[in-house]
Amino acid sequence: MPFSDFVGNPETVHRLREMLARERFPHAVILSGAHGSGKYTLALMLAMAMNCLERTVIGRTSAERTLIGRSADAGGAGDLPDFCGHCSNCIRIAQSRDLDARFAEAVEARENLRDADKKETRLFVQTHPDVLIIPPDPPQMMIKVDQVRHVIDTIYYRPGEARERVYIFTGSAFMKEAANSLLKVLEEPPEFASIFLLTENAGELLPTIRSRSMTFNLGALTFAEIESRLATLRPDWNARQRALVARLSEGAVGRALSFDLEGYVAARSHALIILRSALAEKNNDHSELFKTTESYRSGAEGRAKIEGLFRTLYSLLEDLMFLQSGAGQLVRNTDILGELRKLSESSDFAWVQRAAEGLGEVERGLRRNLLRSLSLDAFATALEGVS
Ligand SMILES: [Zn+2]
Repeated sequence: MPFSDFVGNPETVHRLREMLARERFPHAVILSGAHGSGKYTLALMLAMAMNCLERTVIGRTSAERTLIGRSADAGGAGDLPDFCGHCSNCIRIAQSRDLDARFAEAVEARENLRDADKKETRLFVQTHPDVLIIPPDPPQMMIKVDQVRHVIDTIYYRPGEARERVYIFTGSAFMKEAANSLLKVLEEPPEFASIFLLTENAGELLPTIRSRSMTFNLGALTFAEIESRLATLRPDWNARQRALVARLSEGAVGRALSFDLEGYVAARSHALIILRSALAEKNNDHSELFKTTESYRSGAEGRAKIEGLFRTLYSLLEDLMFLQSGAGQLVRNTDILGELRKLSESSDFAWVQRAAEGLGEVERGLRRNLLRSLSLDAFATALEGVS
């Protein structure tokens, strides 16, 4: 799993590795990008490259280096540091890769403590003694001052088994005191430590923290980049499915890889029944519609299901608007383009807008806890015949 496995943003990755090669890596790096853009994956890869016991530098002889140096200009790996993935440092750091699973384990471990200890225990993920991952602490999901205190308590000691201590903050929502404590570390960082701050919105961090860090953005990938990645990693999806997922994951490869395609398609089939029923002639048979809306129940599970339905309804309505405004290339539900064209022909732009507004009303109604299935029926029937 070397750097070449990282998808997208090759220039950013290249610059970070170059700084590593020159031993000019900044003490604090802000990795900014959408959810699923690879911030955490990249931070872990850099932690491995810093500490790999068999750190590889391609092209050791000067002749090779010249040759490879040229290919590096053309976007190749050059003689930049990489990591092996199988030494004891790489293996232990890589155990943190499944952040959701490690986070859940840490939360559960804390839940099992006695009440008195629970309050004292701050949340961390740590699979290597010199690499500490600091997630936002539930239930507030903020970085707390005691978490940063633990960073301060350890960061000034030389690493034991690594060359570089690495701290990865996986969120940028800090309690005020925590942010101020972090600032103190950034004012006097030790030589042998690197801090990564991962954020979807760098503006959330204190300006004084930002000015003491170097910011790197992980931009959205193209559909083609995501599709080609999915072809390797999700061979169980066919080309149409890969095209659909690439378009729905908004340029974030992590989101594409964990996309719940089955759940999406199920919700979409319901959304289509609702839209078809709304666009049908007046006094049509509502049995299919009612059967669908009846399956939406209250409770936490019902809540998630109905939110999935809303998301797909909005995404279909948006696609209809794209078709009606001559921007068909922006349609995301490409696998049902024929069906969308039919729907788009039997409605018009004003109808789609009314539908989106009506949907907003149903959503607000649900927040006031109206009976779920009832308001869905009302939504579909209210739109009937207005085209
Ligand atoms: Zn290694």
